[in-house]
Formats: sequence, structure tokens, C-alpha cells
Amino acid sequence: MEPVIQSSSNPTERNAILVDLDSGFSRLGIQHRRRARYRRSLSWVIAIQTIRGLRRLMDITVSACLLVALSPFWIIMLIVAHASGGGVRKLPRLGRWATTFDQYEIAFGETATPRLASMSSLPALCNVLRGEMSLIGPRAVSPHATIVGERIAWKRYELRPGLLSLWWLRKRANIAYTSEVDLDIEYVETNSFWGDFGIAMRAIPTAFFGGELSSAPYELNFLGVRIHNLTMAEAASQIVLLANKPEPSQICFVNADCVNIAFKDSKYRSTLSAARLVLADGIGVRLAGTILDQHIRENINGTDMLPYLCEAAEDAGLSVYLLGGRPGVPEDVNAWMAERYPKLRSAGIRHGYFSEDGESQVVADIAASRADILLVALGAPRQDRWIAQHKDHLGVKVAIGVGGLFDFYGGRIPRAPIWMRELGMEWFYRFWQEPRRMWRRYFLGNSVFLYRVIRERLRASRETPHKEGTYL
Ligand code: UDP
Repeated sequence: MEPVIQSSSNPTERNAILVDLDSGFSRLGIQHRRRARYRRSLSWVIAIQTIRGLRRLMDITVSACLLVALSPFWIIMLIVAHASGGGVRKLPRLGRWATTFDQYEIAFGETATPRLASMSSLPALCNVLRGEMSLIGPRAVSPHATIVGERIAWKRYELRPGLLSLWWLRKRANIAYTSEVDLDIEYVETNSFWGDFGIAMRAIPTAFFGGELSSAPYELNFLGVRIHNLTMAEAASQIVLLANKPEPSQICFVNADCVNIAFKDSKYRSTLSAARLVLADGIGVRLAGTILDQHIRENINGTDMLPYLCEAAEDAGLSVYLLGGRPGVPEDVNAWMAERYPKLRSAGIRHGYFSEDGESQVVADIAASRADILLVALGAPRQDRWIAQHKDHLGVKVAIGVGGLFDFYGGRIPRAPIWMRELGMEWFYRFWQEPRRMWRRYFLGNSVFLYRVIRERLRASRETPHKEGTYL
């Protein structure tokens, strides 16, 4: 009988089977069965409540320990806050079951360093102790945030808001591409004890190396390479805008390896400076941004961008051509796109293993496809040079060099798990997958890159006199 019950997905049918099953037992047997069912339900309730209790116990223990351990630091923070014209303030917030409470924060005046200002929410440890917040949870939102999106996230009120949230973590890691509300919902639906533990562990390095930098300038310059400092949403909408212009535009992604190549290769440097958009990809350029005081707003790599681009292109009625990867790979990417974005028009596909003699035929095929957007996955810098060379004959509006992106979406190479990306360790995962090919790029290349960046920083410091009241 058991397999029959499990295989029935219809609840009415399942109940009928159970009633039928009950009728086969004696009265005593039926009572035993019912008691067993109650015991099982009760044990679930006890288990869930115990886990909740343990979490609360953990919250109390950790916040109490931190409050005591950081007590000298609190005093310094308060002195600095008062000296800079700030102090302790209370922010109205919505807590569990949408009840209001005041979240404590130290407000610093304008003269405080950004590092100190980023510690301003630490007094919320008192809210954790009082049971109004958790260490980890969805964002603590203001009662005034009554926009529609916030209401959709009603589920968040089943949990206490967190001092740390998934949104905070991804924002600090420069990979918060979706909205705050979406990330809150993701947290509420996926949270677990070990998940929270992981967020807490990842928050430690992220707190020191991350940053929320929405106010950074729109154009940066790293070792002679100009970078457009956009967010993912801005980049995707810019591409759609460019796809509606008559002249062709080239878009490049640059990581530390690309900047290294451009440092020595003036032709590649010119290709990058002629490109319409150059987007910052990876932890290397982000670190360089921190060192050079030119902060990167978001990590914009082709792999993360593809879903946003497909969505924007689908909405705008644009067609996409895929060029590159091993035979069979662009076909798999095309199938992935067709499944998720059924209205997105595919203009064509072609693998990237063609001879120089066959190049003119490839260009002619793309031109005949009348594609709006061309994704070229031949690896950097070859793909960017290729686009620059053929741009005027391809007939496309936008051509983007996307590196190994097709291998990820085609399923040939698995992508690093999200916790590794939150830690900025995706490069290590890539190295682990192909150590022979990648060790030079990551270990040697990144060291050279950082050396050059630090040298540029020191040179800039020597040339720019230190102004009082600014942070270097
Ligand atoms: N590739 C290609 N034709 C070639 C050489 C490479 O299509 O002649 C493809 C290769 O299959 C891979 C991509 O180019 O999908 C390069 O990936 P890689 O990870 O090296 O690129 P990166 O992201 O590092 O620029």
C-alpha cells in the first residue's frame, strides 16, 4: 500500500486511500495509527521550536559577547560621533509580525572616515539582545517604505529583521543585481541554521573588503584603461539603447588579466578606448578600484549579465546571434535562452573554431542574419580584437566580447557557488577547474596587476598633495 500513497500527488485521492486503509484496521489499530500521526506532527513542531530557540540563544550569546568585547570601541565611537556633530539615534523600523521598534544607530558627522561610518549600525546589537532583531535576517525596513515591492515582501515579517542581511552581503560583494525586496524573499524562502552561519562567516571578510559605493564616479581609469562604472541594470539598459542606434557599438568586459594585457599591448589598449562601453569584471579590478580610490559600483561580468540582457532584449524585440565556443556549445546556450526567454529572437549560432580563411564567411553569415546583438565568445583579448576588426561589416548594432560565458550556460563548465562569489573567490574556483591553464593568469597575473596598481597609487599620492579633511 505504501508506494501507492506516495505516488498519488492528488490530495483528495490520497485522503481516500488513507480512509480506505483505515477501514482495514481494527479499532485499536486505527487509534494507534492516529496517535502515531499526532506524535509525528508534534515532534516536528518541537524540532522547529527547538531550532528557533537555539537560534535565539545564539543571537543572545553572540550579541552579548560582542557588546562586552567591543565596549572600549563603543566609547571611542561615541566620542568621535559627538566630536563630529553626531550621536546615538533611533530609527523607526518594522520588526517581526510588522510591529514597530526603534533601531539604534550611531550617526557620525561628515568628517568621520567611511570605515567608521560603516560601523554605525553596530549598536543594533542592543536590538538583537532585546529580541527585536536577529543577527541574520531580512533587511530591517522603515515603516515609511510602503512601496508596492515592500508589500510583496510581507513574508519577511514572519522573521525578525537582521543586523546582517543577504542584501547587505551581496551589496558589499558588488553582486546585488536583483532588488532588495527580491533578496529578502530569497532569504526568507531559503534560510536555515547553516545558511545563517555561512552568511555570518562571509560577512567578516566582506565587512573589511566590501563597500556600498553607489556614489562612485561613472568613468574610471585603471593603468590607462578607461572603465564605465555602471550597475548591471544600467549596463543592460545601455546595451538596449545602443542596439537602437544606427552605428555599431562594441562592448568589452575587462578583468585584471585584460588590464595586464592592455598595459603592454597598445593595440589592445586602443581597441578598449575605442569601445563604446568597457565594463569592470571581477574581484581584481574591484580591489584595484579600492586601492586607487576609484570604486567599482558593481561587478559586471558577462555571465551574470546574460539573464538581464536576454530579458531586456526580449522586451525590446531585439535578436541575438551567438558566436564562439566549441561545436555544440552555442546550440546548448541557444536552447537555454529559448527555454527561459521564449520571445527572444535568435538570429543564429556558430561555434568559434574556424580558420582565418573561413573568417570572411563567418562575417558574411552574421551580416546576413541581420542580428541586433552579437555575443562573441572567443576569449579575451582575441574576441575584442575580432569585433574591432570586423565591426563595420557584421551589420549588427551591438557586439559584445563575452569570454567563457557560453561554457557556463551550455553546461560544459559549472559556475562557482554563490557563497564563493559573495566572497570574491570565483577566480579560485576557475583555477581549481583548470589549474594548468589558469595558474599563470591568476597567481602570476594578479600579483603583477596588484603590483602595478599599488605603484600607480604611490605615484598618484606623491603627485597629489594631501588635502586636509580628505581620506586617502
Ligand atoms: N574559443 C573559441 N575559439 C577558439 C578559442 C577559444 O570559440 O579558437 C572559446 C572557448 O571554447 C571558450 C572561450 O572561447 O568558450 C574562451 O574561454 P576563456 O575562459 O578562455 O575566456 P575568458 O573568459 O578567460 O576570456
